[in-house]
Order: sequence, then structure tokens, then C-alpha cells
Amino acid sequence: MASIEFAPRQHETEQITAHVIWLTSGLSCDGDSVAMTSAVDPSLEDIITGAIPGMPKVVAHTPVLAYENGAEFLQAWYDAEAGKLDPFVLIVEGSIPNEKINGEGHFAGMGVNPSNGQPITTNEWIDRLAPKSAATVALGTCATYGGIPAMKNNPTGAMGLCDYLGWGWTSAAGIPVVNIPGCPAQPDNTTESLTVLVMALAGITPIPELDEQHRLTMHFGRTVHEGCNRAAFYEHGNFATEYGSDHRCLVKLGCKGPVVKCNVPIRGWQSGVGGCPNVGGICMACTMPGFPDKFMPFMDEDPKAKLSSNGAKFTYGPLLRYFRNQSINRIGDKEPEWRHPRNEITTGYTPHWQ
Ligand code: SF4
Ligand code: SF4
Ligand code: SF4
Repeated sequence: MASIEFAPRQHETEQITAHVIWLTSGLSCDGDSVAMTSAVDPSLEDIITGAIPGMPKVVAHTPVLAYENGAEFLQAWYDAEAGKLDPFVLIVEGSIPNEKINGEGHFAGMGVNPSNGQPITTNEWIDRLAPKSAATVALGTCATYGGIPAMKNNPTGAMGLCDYLGWGWTSAAGIPVVNIPGCPAQPDNTTESLTVLVMALAGITPIPELDEQHRLTMHFGRTVHEGCNRAAFYEHGNFATEYGSDHRCLVKLGCKGPVVKCNVPIRGWQSGVGGCPNVGGICMACTMPGFPDKFMPFMDEDPKAKLSSNGAKFTYGPLLRYFRNQSINRIGDKEPEWRHPRNEITTGYTPHWQ
């Protein structure tokens, strides 16, 4: 059986063993899996070694990390279908090529059906496993909304999992598809979502709250702009006009952050480091429905953003900047007088040996 399995720590209360069936055979670059290996909060190792207090044992079956292959690797998929791995979480990575609408043949599959010698398509795996899963997760923008493979004129019938299964679809445990968009999905968003889902399935925590696009509100409740460390430069009307300029807002270079829901500027990419606009790259809206078509050309300033940024630049921005600098210089950036009640001039620190 394809699995990564470690015994949980003995002090943990083991209520259930949750299996994770991780299907990467959508139209995928496996980038979400690869990114997930750098998660730290929590890490995959934390999850599968039982390092998180109270968390049930988790066994992950994923082709990216498995060392088994062929029939041995596929056994977990058959076991899940047969109900031998309950409860299991199905993670789908990659865009779903809907083979019913894309003409003859097929675009994606995994394994061979022994009864007819034909490939088992990705559609078939989803049809077999999703209804039996306790929870099903669409990981990455390809799996959530179709992403790059679903761009205009694509011949594959590529679409997101909710479009494939239906937005009203629910798992065997009554949970809608959980969407974790991002290209790739932010690593800690992936592992934390998996953690809270497994905890919820074990009855330890409530089912996490989802928004109307089936995203965890705790991860996607704020815009990039609201978490960006350049936001004050926008407010001050201080905008970069070329890449590599100093620390200013990037909206005139095409940053879509004001209208994009994503927590990467707050969370960083790895161990809190990075975060697209924080480190000088425009937000291209990779977490959003309709990405990439709806947000192209990436490097052109959005017309609506132009209106509001010009407002900041030519009206209140310079005023704010002026009055704040005054406050900083006259009040904020000085030692308060009450610390120096006498007139004597201090000479600073005197070493005790003098
Ligand atoms: Fe790759 Fe991005 Fe698609 Fe994930 S969302 S499979 S990282 S292209
Ligand atoms: Fe907002 Fe982008 Fe400017 Fe950051 S760089 S403040 S996200 S517009
Ligand atoms: Fe994607 Fe923008 Fe978030 Fe970066 S900040 S991950 S480009 S949505």
C-alpha cells in the first residue's frame, strides 16, 4: 500500500485514523504538492508523526511522496473505494478535464482498469471516490476554478472540482468541497486546512467556516492589500513606476492586490518569509476565480485602480504624508521631556570602570 505512516506519540488520544487520498492526476504540475512539502505551520511531518496534540493519526497516500509504484501504489485507491479506509479525505490537485465534453479519448487518468485494459480516467476516480469521502478538497487554483488549463480556447474541457461535481455537492459527511486556491496553494494553508478538517471529522473541532466560494474564511477573509506591508504607501499616494524602485506601492505596475482575496502577504511563503507584493512582485490574482484570463494583461494597471490611486496621489495622499511627517518629527520621534526634568546636559552612558 502506498503510504507514509508513523506511529503517533503515545500521549496522544487516538480516536480515529484518517486516510488522505491525494489525487494529482488532474491537469496539474504537482506544484501544490511540492509547495506543501515546505509547510511549517504545521508541517506535513507534524501531521503524519502525530506531533499535534489531540490530532488523530493521519496516513497520507500521495504519488509525489510514495516510493511504491504500479499495483502496489494503487491499492489504497481501491481500498478507499471499497470502504476499507474510512474516514478518508480526498484531495484533488489539478484541473478536471471533463471527458464528457472534450471529444473522443481522454486527457488524464491514473492506472489501468483490469477488466478492460483501459486507463482509469481522473473523472472516473473522482466519480468513484468523492461520494465516499468524508471530505473532498480542491487544492490549487487549477482544481478550484480550472486555473491555467481552463484558459480561453482550451481543448480539454478543463474545469474546477465544484463545476465538475456541482456547487451544491456534499461529501458523505455532508461537507461541501473545500477550496484552497492559489498557484500554488500557500503551503501552510494546505496543511492547516487538512489539520482542521481531520480534527473536525474526529469531532474535536467544528467544521471550519467556508465563504461563498467554498474557501476557508480564516484564510481568505481579507484582501492582499489589507495584509500588504506596502499599504501605507498606497494611502500616501507613493507609487512605484518601475520595477526595482524602492519600497513603494506597486499598483501602477499592475498589482491586483486591492481586489484579491489571499493571505500570502500576511503568512509569507515559507516560515513567514516572502509574500508577493511584500517582496516586490505584483499580485497577479492567482487565487481568484477566472484566473488567469480575467486578470490579464497582468502588468497593466487596472482602470479602476488607476482612478483610486490617482485620487490618493493628487488629493489626500500628499496631505496625509505631510501631516504625518510633522507629527513624527515634532512629537513621535523624540524622547519625552518628563525623562529629563533637570537642565543639566547628559553625556550618555559612562562605563562603570571609569
Ligand atoms: Fe500547478 Fe498552479 Fe495548477 Fe497548482 S494551481 S497544479 S501549482 S498550475
Ligand atoms: Fe495594495 Fe499591491 Fe500596493 Fe500592496 S503593492 S499596497 S497589495 S496595491
Ligand atoms: Fe497569488 Fe496575489 Fe496571493 Fe501572490 S499575493 S499568491 S499573486 S493571489
